[in-house]
Amino acid sequence: MYALRQWSVRHSRGLNAFYRAFENTLAACHPLFRRIGYQRLERPVAALERNVKGLLFDCRMCGQCVLSSTGMSCPMNCPKNLRNGPCGGVRANGHCEVKPEMKCVWAQAVAGAARIPGGTEALTKVQPPVDRRLQGRSSWLRVARERAGEPT
Ligand code: SF4
Repeated sequence: MYALRQWSVRHSRGLNAFYRAFENTLAACHPLFRRIGYQRLERPVAALERNVKGLLFDCRMCGQCVLSSTGMSCPMNCPKNLRNGPCGGVRANGHCEVKPEMKCVWAQAVAGAARIPGGTEALTKVQPPVDRRLQGRSSWLRVARERAGEPT
């Protein structure tokens, strides 16, 4: 939902802090997740993630979340799916050239990152190209495995 997405960017500091703590919780749950089975968890966790992040960020379930590096503005809402900054078509009013009614997600990312300690530095981190094989998969489970040093 667009209005909630804007709210999330305005409250990026608190949401980022929550997300960091949540990541730690996910990492701590790795032994439990492994016992249950990541394959078995994939569908229900991805469904939960889709609902929660869909509401707050208009998440597109790319499976490789970068919200913490983009000021809580999901780059997959960019019509061009740009993951490393805006194109050259941002309008003078800060809106998207493809969807004029929408604020540029990268202009939003800069605003959101400025509210997060270290957010502007995180924004300069170069993101790898989107791996389409991960589309629809849970980023949360991926984080839990990554933090445990397991292949994802
Ligand atoms: S970066 Fe990917 S996982 Fe994160 S909110 Fe956007 S679409 Fe969802």
